[in-house]
Amino acid sequence: RLRQEEKAWKINSLASEFFQNVLLRNPGAEAARGYLISRGVTIDTIKDFNLGYALPEWDALIRFMRDKGIGIRSLIDVGLAVSNNNNKTYDRFRARLMFPINDSRGRVTGFGGRVLDKSNPKYLNTPETEYFNKSKILYGLDKARQHIREAGYVIITEGYMDAITAHQYGIKNAVASLGTSLTRDHGKLLASQTREVIIAYDADAAGIAAAVRGLDILQEAGCRVRVLHLSEGKDPDEFLRARGYEEWQRQVERAVPLVEFKLQMALEKYKNVSSSKDAILEEVLPSIAAISAELEKTEAIQMVASRLYTSFHAVAEELHRFYKNNP
Ligand code: ATP
Ligand code: MN
Ligand code: MN
Ligand code: MN
Repeated sequence: RLRQEEKAWKINSLASEFFQNVLLRNPGAEAARGYLISRGVTIDTIKDFNLGYALPEWDALIRFMRDKGIGIRSLIDVGLAVSNNNNKTYDRFRARLMFPINDSRGRVTGFGGRVLDKSNPKYLNTPETEYFNKSKILYGLDKARQHIREAGYVIITEGYMDAITAHQYGIKNAVASLGTSLTRDHGKLLASQTREVIIAYDADAAGIAAAVRGLDILQEAGCRVRVLHLSEGKDPDEFLRARGYEEWQRQVERAVPLVEFKLQMALEKYKNVSSSKDAILEEVLPSIAAISAELEKTEAIQMVASRLYTSFHAVAEELHRFYKNNP
């Protein structure tokens, strides 16, 4: 298994060099270069993240690899080539901007590929294997590690472009969870660097739902989770370009603890506080229960009680009931 994994790193890293060479030099990559320029991605960023381009041809990568002595079978194994029903093999990634996905030690374990237009699917990824498992990978962590320690917190975004733009703006403690909800493994991956997490997901329904979903898990792993709110419809990439670094930092300072974020959401949903206290409590209890530090938990109970015009004792009782029903 280890040999499989090592082989995959080697092939993926060769492929990543190939895609980058194409992006920087191939006449067929003009549109891709134009696309990146139009999104404000600099040449330093392209090199820093090893961005590349997969040509629209059926077998550009297959031919490149053949010259290096790497056969079709190996390419299929690592997900870079596919074969159809007629036993025809071709490159998986064609006419896509390529984002190499490194593990936390900087080894290329897979790719994300983005179309340059509005066609679907917008992103195509390396299929999941034992060693390429998106629920265990945080995009950009290899570059962010040191900066996370220095800053004392990590920023988690949804997308490749969010993490990349953050880095380009000097926010180098940013990583991306690649659209999947956060897992216990993500928590483990972070725990040795920091316990302070700021979630900066897209300000659309999907992003907010994802933010709400995965986060109790991080709290259970002992992290203090805060949620950064971006203005209507924006993601961190768009926000940074529209509003700049200073405005971003202001939002970071305003990021609210997870329980408070959930409370705000519930208050908006139910509108009438006095007639919906139980329902609102129901939505925030799991997040309070997931807090491991006692002092922090006490503060959360206090905060919820005052916002719901009820007593500390009443909220604490409900929490006990919640623990009893969810051992
Ligand atoms: P862009 O700014 O280039 O449009 P984005 O990162 O804002 O991209 P979103 O649609 O917000 O894209 O999706 C967030 C993340 O979810 C992506 O960066 C990608 O990792 C993942 N994702 C999105 N669409 C797909 C898809 N069709 N298949 C697999 N993963 C996807
Ligand atoms: Mn989105
Ligand atoms: Mn985006
Ligand atoms: Mn987005």
